[in-house]
Amino acid sequence: MSRILIVEDEAKIARFVELELVHEGYEVEKAPDGRTGLDLALQGDYDLILLDVMLPGLNGIEVLRRLRQQKSTPVILLTARDAVMDKVSGLDAGADDYITKPFAIEELLARIRVAERHHEAGEAAPRGARIEIGPVVLDEDRHEVTVNGEPVYLTNHEFLLLQALMENKNIVMDRSRLIEKVCGYDYVGETNVIDVYVRYLRTKIDDHYGINLIRTVRGVGYVIRDDLK
Ligand code: CA
Repeated sequence: MSRILIVEDEAKIARFVELELVHEGYEVEKAPDGRTGLDLALQGDYDLILLDVMLPGLNGIEVLRRLRQQKSTPVILLTARDAVMDKVSGLDAGADDYITKPFAIEELLARIRVAERHHEAGEAAPRGARIEIGPVVLDEDRHEVTVNGEPVYLTNHEFLLLQALMENKNIVMDRSRLIEKVCGYDYVGETNVIDVYVRYLRTKIDDHYGINLIRTVRGVGYVIRDDLK
């Protein structure tokens, strides 16, 4: 059973997330401030930490920075909407992912599963994996994509976009999150470049092989589902 530590000063949010996680079969502990959170994180043996950024005393970024001097426990930051600086410094300080408040519990659960998977893969083997969805295979080490065994030639941006969608399969990715994966999180510019890369990918993969790989979620972004329906 996975153990999760929630560091969150808003008791209602902490309680809500705790109930949902326990319901999903996780074992949960909570800390109401940064200092308690850091102590627990350093002493305890957690599989994942949900870490609020805006905390009394020691803030989340500082907790993360101190934790990373000793431990690599996966951390998902809980950030306020549009707190770009939090995201940037959080990722710099070694966060594995972030989620913006308010969030849907389904999205949080999906991100927890991705972080756990990454961490397990990272421990079991060197980074770089093969991701397979239907006839599409993406090889991270070789930077190669094949469909039905045939190589598909992609630009670097197209590859990174496809990788982001395949790694997060079944999770709807909004344009700003995809921009971070494809252009870096300090990118400033139009997020509709993502739509352009999606169009290129669809021409090269969906249209060429007659599959429905990348789906549009109107008003949100894009998703690749593993059933390819
Ligand atoms: Ca807070």
